[in-house]
Amino acid sequence: MIELFGVMGNPIKHSLSPLIQNEAYELNNINAFFQPFQVESKNLEEAVKGMKALGIKGFMVTVPFKAAIIPYLDELSPGAEKIRAVNVVQLIDGKYVGYNFDGEAWLKALKEDMKIDSLKNQNVLLLGAGGAAQSIYYTLAQEGNVNVDISNRTMEKAEALVELSENKKRTQVISLKKAESQQEKYDVIVQTTSIGMWPKTEHSPIKLSNLKKGAFVSDIIYNPGETEILRQAKNNGAKVQNGMKMLASQNVLCIEKWTGHKVDSNRMLQTLKEALNN
Ligand code: NAP
Repeated sequence: MIELFGVMGNPIKHSLSPLIQNEAYELNNINAFFQPFQVESKNLEEAVKGMKALGIKGFMVTVPFKAAIIPYLDELSPGAEKIRAVNVVQLIDGKYVGYNFDGEAWLKALKEDMKIDSLKNQNVLLLGAGGAAQSIYYTLAQEGNVNVDISNRTMEKAEALVELSENKKRTQVISLKKAESQQEKYDVIVQTTSIGMWPKTEHSPIKLSNLKKGAFVSDIIYNPGETEILRQAKNNGAKVQNGMKMLASQNVLCIEKWTGHKVDSNRMLQTLKEALNN
């Protein structure tokens, strides 16, 4: 019987996950179909119950339900429990278990593009303290051996993030102004705010003009493919990455979790690039 997977959000029509998931199922002979589900907030509980009643074995969760869905799930992974946000759900022994793959997917994509196995003792600057930043910071803190400074417009949100780490001494919360003035300190800068996202593509949260030699700048935004901060980073000689590989990695991780199939993330990345360039 064909399995049904999907993504739940509102709005959902711009999601690229149906395109890349369905292509991966076809290429890997996975007998499944991936459907976008647009859900009204007032119907969230009924929607989750309905998904379970229909036997849907897995689905992704996106804006605005990453936190709101938690009361309707049966269990959370330790990471999702800590950051109180879920973006992937799996049916295990009749229970819906919530996970958050943002951080894991980002770190996997970063290590691949930096061609490294570990960020040991590297200095990382995390720009932003929203949902994606939480998961990325939690993942970096789990690594245990990385120095991560956090800079966000709302400092209180950055300060709250530090509570996700067991090793708070490795993190300083700094203003965006200070982050800009000491940018040459960082080996890796990860941009997780929504600044620079289409259609307001001319903005960046800080100006990059004095990067450390060999610095790597990662922006988790994937539309546009080159944000203003990545343009500045490239002009300063940095290696850069946009958010497409992170998005592909999320989808690869989901398929592996739900079906046990390991699919090719490069093929997904190619499909994403083509879709976003059109
Ligand atoms: P979010 O929870 O709404 O957080 C937004 C962040 O942007 C906060 O740090 C917020 O600062 C900051 N921000 C927004 N407008 C700002 C402004 N005008 N000036 C200064 N700071 C501003 O969003 P999210 O879910 O983390 O997503 C953030 C971005 O990541 C989006 O572009 C999303 O598409 C992208 N994303 C990509 C992937 C991927 O797979 N590549 C996955 C998840 C998210 P305050 O705290 O001060 O409000």
